[in-house]
Amino acid sequence: MKFFFKYGIIFIMVFVLAGCGRVAPKAWSYTDTAMGTVIHQGIYCEEEEIARNFSQKAMEELEHLEQEILSWRLETAEVYEINASAGSEEGYLLSKEMGALLWDCMALSEASEGAFDIGIGALVRLWDIDRWAAQAQTGVYQVPSEEEVRMALQLCSGQIRLEADRVYLPEGMGLDLGAVGKGIALTKFQSLLEKEEAISGAVISVGGSILTYGKKADGTNWIVGITDPFGTSDYIGTLSLDGQWCVSTSGNYERYVEVDGVRYHHILDPATGYPADSGVSSVTVLSENGMLSDGLSTACFILGPQKGMTLAEKYGVEVLYILDDGSIILSEGMKPYWTQREQ
Ligand code: ADP
Ligand code: MG
Repeated sequence: MKFFFKYGIIFIMVFVLAGCGRVAPKAWSYTDTAMGTVIHQGIYCEEEEIARNFSQKAMEELEHLEQEILSWRLETAEVYEINASAGSEEGYLLSKEMGALLWDCMALSEASEGAFDIGIGALVRLWDIDRWAAQAQTGVYQVPSEEEVRMALQLCSGQIRLEADRVYLPEGMGLDLGAVGKGIALTKFQSLLEKEEAISGAVISVGGSILTYGKKADGTNWIVGITDPFGTSDYIGTLSLDGQWCVSTSGNYERYVEVDGVRYHHILDPATGYPADSGVSSVTVLSENGMLSDGLSTACFILGPQKGMTLAEKYGVEVLYILDDGSIILSEGMKPYWTQREQ
């Protein structure tokens, strides 16, 4: 049995080649952990105090997001409360922010023909891959039985009913916003940065989602490395990005448990109840909107390249697929940013 959780600057799926780590003049870098992953911040400004204050504000924002809004584990979070209301007649009165988010998630669910499914909590809990991959569990990982998968799928298959600012979940259903949480964090950081006149540029990664903002001191583009899913080198190519982008990668090498040579990863296909098996090793999505880059990377992973490219086009985002056979497929709009690494 093998566990895997990619963690740290060279191990995260998408990593930043410039900005973080190597500290150029007037570029300040910080590394923390939150949301069960590593956060790297590269901040461009004159004074270190400004950068440090910002990085602390960003971490407080993440803490707030997790503890008050997104967590299904913490009683203080809105998602926890929504899940606790499942089966009730009166449903749950949503905050304005959560209401808007759930409407967006439902639209993505519909557009992806159910591949992206925030009602998947029971199945995610059953597989529990994230915690096993992070070695937060001890003992021997038991692959769920077909019967257990079938039962959990039943709890996911009901309708989430959204009516204006109220949500009604069927008994037993649990929301899981793990597929969009990191992207939502990027959008929060973007708003925080817009209020900081002294900060001219920044690059922040939350696990496999990266925000580029403003400009580097020397005016050159942000260079984001895309991790080699096959592990033969640390990165397989780079995206050269100007200005403000959210880049999210979903991969089958990111968090997984391996049992008897079979890899069980953390992106689940609601059509089968099993880890998605669409011939895809990783998908990177480029968007100006963090919720979309993150949500669509998960959806496109499950759908595979054919349907995924159509979905990406519908949302006006760019996409880069790395397939299990090593081939790379890019949307037209992604091509100008991409440079494949020479072997
Ligand atoms: P990460 O969050 O590790 O960067 P993703 O963005 O691809 O990776 O999201 C994976 C997470 O999304 C899982 O850990 C789980 O919480 C949740 N998830 C798994 N399958 C689905 C699905 N089909 N639809 C929506 N969310 C999912
Ligand atoms: Mg995602």
